[in-house]
Amino acid sequence: MENVELYEILGVNKNSTDAEIKKNYRKLAKEFHPDKNPEAGDKFKEISFAYEILSDPDKRKIYDRYGLKGLQEGSDGFGDASEFFSHWFPFSGGHSHSSGGGGGNSRARAAAQVVKKLEVTLEELFNGNVSKSIEYTRTSYCAACDGEGGPKTNMEQCKACNGTGRTANYSFMGAFVNAFESTCPSCYGRGTTIPEDCRCSTCSGSGLVEEEVKQEVPIEKGAPNMLKVLFASAGNQPLVGERGDLIVVLVQAEHPVFIRRQNDLFLRDIHINVTQALCGFVHCFQHLDGRSIYITNKPGDVIKHAELRVVTGEGMPLRNNPFERGDLFVEFNIDFPDDNFATIEQMQLLETLLPPRPPFTMPEDAEEVVMMEVPPYGEGSHAGAHGGMDDDDEDGTPHFDSVQCQTG
Ligand SMILES: [Zn+2]
Ligand SMILES: [Zn+2]
Repeated sequence: MENVELYEILGVNKNSTDAEIKKNYRKLAKEFHPDKNPEAGDKFKEISFAYEILSDPDKRKIYDRYGLKGLQEGSDGFGDASEFFSHWFPFSGGHSHSSGGGGGNSRARAAAQVVKKLEVTLEELFNGNVSKSIEYTRTSYCAACDGEGGPKTNMEQCKACNGTGRTANYSFMGAFVNAFESTCPSCYGRGTTIPEDCRCSTCSGSGLVEEEVKQEVPIEKGAPNMLKVLFASAGNQPLVGERGDLIVVLVQAEHPVFIRRQNDLFLRDIHINVTQALCGFVHCFQHLDGRSIYITNKPGDVIKHAELRVVTGEGMPLRNNPFERGDLFVEFNIDFPDDNFATIEQMQLLETLLPPRPPFTMPEDAEEVVMMEVPPYGEGSHAGAHGGMDDDDEDGTPHFDSVQCQTG
């Protein structure tokens, strides 16, 4: 029998790629989200459940071969259900399952993960070859009791879970029952408890303590904003199972002069006056590597207000090929002279140089109205009224797909 129900729930088929599955899931999850669609609660759960299985390569494989029964009852390679569940949820299986690795224990690893943001400057991302130190707090086994929470001789079997460390949960997903196990909240999956009066005083019997640690984070040349740098096994030590990872998210600080969009840079606040715009100019500025560089424009090559020009190869270095670089875009703001900058005679002379006025005939019934300067509004009321580029960095969306590996 073909196992297709979960694929059907997500509107995909057995040959769909992970990206297609993800795309459809997002679409459906949005549509049936209980906030928007309170009637469709079960539908939303079904969608979530189907995605949970199909987005995990291990679970998808089991489902393809053995169907939902395979997921609930276990199958070849997983023995009985409890072994299967402990593969999924290593918290519940004791130390012997801590060697899991791979995607199967992603839930537990995510729980033990530490995520830290690290602000980096555009100069640092441009030049690379630096590392920055971060400090963070993580859990580790208590040294005083060796992570046991108290003397072994005082341990008692947990009454809440009869020593299994797990409690069973059931949820109903439309047509089928989803049985899953979770960590026992009384013993945190240990299966044992220690009476209050003999608990370790250092960790109050939890077996875990918090420690402050430091990590050097290398900043790679051309690293994208929001890059996740992974330090394997540098995160929290859970009570049961493997230490989680540390993930450092590089957050690009705003730069006073340059704006970055992927590999390109924008030099925004360049002002030239009408004379320069019409008759040429030289403009010098300091680049992100400290070099002074200049751009020139020939007389007669007219630059219009808010016009964008490009200097190829002066953008950000490419992350995987630092000898290649993006482009540098320059936006020009033209400053016009103040009122009465010349005499009437000079204006008439100037007019002979400028393009002729367009032809104009006054209609007979036209009525004259008075135009004045607009009085200044309150601060911010003109927001959005300036043309040209906006300040939003479209690069601000997290680039979580690009993970850089480091050994912790
Ligand atoms: Zn302790
Ligand atoms: Zn328990």
